[in-house]
Amino acid sequence: MQMIADLHAHTLCATHAFQTMNEMAAAAKAAGYCALAITDHAPAMPDAPHIWHFANGNALPRVLDDVVMLYGAETNVMDTKGGLDLPQGHLAGLDWVVASIHSPCVPGLLTEKEANRIWLAIAENPYVDCIGHSEQENYRYDYDLVTKAFAKNHKVVELNAGSFSVRKDGIPNMKKLLTACMENGCHIAVDSDAHSAWRLQTALPPLYAMLEELSFPQDLIVNATRENLVKELELHGRRCAKEIGGILL
Ligand SMILES: [Zn+2]
Ligand SMILES: [Zn+2]
Repeated sequence: MQMIADLHAHTLCATHAFQTMNEMAAAAKAAGYCALAITDHAPAMPDAPHIWHFANGNALPRVLDDVVMLYGAETNVMDTKGGLDLPQGHLAGLDWVVASIHSPCVPGLLTEKEANRIWLAIAENPYVDCIGHSEQENYRYDYDLVTKAFAKNHKVVELNAGSFSVRKDGIPNMKKLLTACMENGCHIAVDSDAHSAWRLQTALPPLYAMLEELSFPQDLIVNATRENLVKELELHGRRCAKEIGGILL
C-alpha cells in the first residue's frame, strides 16, 4: 500500500513543528507524493499562527518542487455544538479543512452524547473536508451512527499516524472506526499529521498494516489514487478541484 498524497501536515509557522513549507514539499516529493496539504493549527490552539495566515494562499504557488500544494487548516472544535475557530469566509477559501478536537480548546472529557452532537453538527458543515484523529478514547462517539452522517455529507474520516505514536489509547478504536467506515461507505484519508519532514516520510507503515489486516478497500481511501483525490475535491465543491484535476489527471 502506498498513498499519493498526504492531507495533514504542519510547518514551522507553529514552533512545535520543525520544517518550512518548502522543506515539507521537498520531503513529500522524496516520499513519492504528487500532492501535499499544509494544515497548520487554526488560531485557538496555543502556538498557532495568526488568523491572517489562513487568508493568504494567493501568496503561494499551486505547485512547489513538483508537488501540488493544498493550502488548508486544522481547525479546532470549540464547543459541544460543533463550533470551529475559523470564520466561514476563511474556511470557504481554503483547499482542505481538517476539523479536530484538541484538549486545549475543548477541555475535559466529553460524554458520548456530546461527542455525537459535535460530529453530527460538523457533518453538516459545508466547509469541513476531513475529521481529524477522532478515535481518541476521551472523545468516543457512536461510530456507526456518525459515520453514516459523514458518508452522506462527504466528510472524510482520518486515519492519523500521529495518533499511532502519541495518542496510543485510541489505537483499538481506530479499527472499530475503520470497520464502521467500511460498513457505511465512509471515505477515509491516511495521513501523517507530520510536524517534521522525517515524520512525513516514515510515519505511515503502521497504518498500512492496519488497513491491510482489515482488507480496507482502496476506493474508499481519498489519497490512495490521483483520481480519488480529485473526485473528492469535486464532491466537496472545492474551488481548487478543477485546477488540481488539470495538473494531476
Ligand atoms: Zn491535531
Ligand atoms: Zn495536526
